[in-house]
Amino acid sequence: MKDRKTFHGRTVLMILSLLFLMTGCSSGTTGYSHSFFAMDTYMKVEVWGEDGEEICQALEEEIERVEQKISVTDPDSDVSRLNASQGEKCSVDDELFYILRESLEIGQATGGALNISLYPLSQAWGFSSSASGYRVVPEDERQEILKLCDCSQIQLNSEDRTVVFPQGMAVDFGAVGKGYVTDTCANILRDNGAERALLQLGGNIYAMGTKENGKEWRVAIQDPSAEAGQNGAVLGSVSVKDKAVVTSGPYQRYFEEGGIRYHHILDPATGAPAENGLLSVTIISESGLLADGLSTGLFVMGLEKGIEYWKNQNQAEVVWMTDQGELWVTEGLKDAFQAAEGLQINWVSR
Ligand code: AMP
Ligand code: MG
Repeated sequence: MKDRKTFHGRTVLMILSLLFLMTGCSSGTTGYSHSFFAMDTYMKVEVWGEDGEEICQALEEEIERVEQKISVTDPDSDVSRLNASQGEKCSVDDELFYILRESLEIGQATGGALNISLYPLSQAWGFSSSASGYRVVPEDERQEILKLCDCSQIQLNSEDRTVVFPQGMAVDFGAVGKGYVTDTCANILRDNGAERALLQLGGNIYAMGTKENGKEWRVAIQDPSAEAGQNGAVLGSVSVKDKAVVTSGPYQRYFEEGGIRYHHILDPATGAPAENGLLSVTIISESGLLADGLSTGLFVMGLEKGIEYWKNQNQAEVVWMTDQGELWVTEGLKDAFQAAEGLQINWVSR
């Protein structure tokens, strides 16, 4: 495998907190690998095929394009323009309209657990990179901010592609953006005739095609009970083809104060980090956007409600890890999931 360009990120903050891949290097067709920093995280794309090098470049450009559109920290992005609309009608393009609509739908399907309007709260906690530092937000302040976080107040008008929401409201796509761009990157791979590819966009993995030997890719899922990346322990692995594998967990971003750990996935019911006995949720789906939205949403929902959600749909499979060290896996993964040695699987069936 040729390494076309080296990693030029600012920090390796997330590198070791990611899902990682047991790819092995294929002989035969040349594979190209390209690493870079985007969307506040480390990314690596690997593409096999004649135009692999050009495709790698196109993927980075695509990720930068989408980042420029949806970044909340870039004052010139479309999302910043929307967030500055102050209760006025705002025109958005088809792409942003689509991301908004899909995110709101996942929000509804998860009973409000995925809530793209929590941005003011993320800022107050200091989890947004635009914030000055971490801070434990007191209850009364949380309740005050939560009044601005009601997604039902977001009006989408598909006729003229406009959006209206109340003054003070602000959206961010931290929970779905990498998933969305996974899907547009998958289109680029297909349209340009890539033979096989692996995308690692922060905690979002996408595996296209199969390994050269025709077998599916095996994606390892980090054991969240081990300190992020300290010992590389995994809770298991899943074999996939043309699928996104996305994990959400508190270990991915957090701070500590007074001996308590506060993480970045907020529960819209309390305005505080979601605490429900889960250490991580992994979603496997053909849709990167859905997988990303659900990984965050199902993390907030907890095991029981998450299982109920899964039973009523057929687009995603799920792996839960609890703080009791229990592994729960949906039965659609019966042939695909392999637990790490010593871990027992609780199969979830309909
Ligand atoms: P993920 O890593 O995909 O689970 O997304 C986590 C990011 O989504 C956080 O860093 C916040 O920017 C944002 N976020 C936190 N809690 C929520 C939530 N309940 N709904 C939607 N976005 C959230
Ligand atoms: Mg997510």
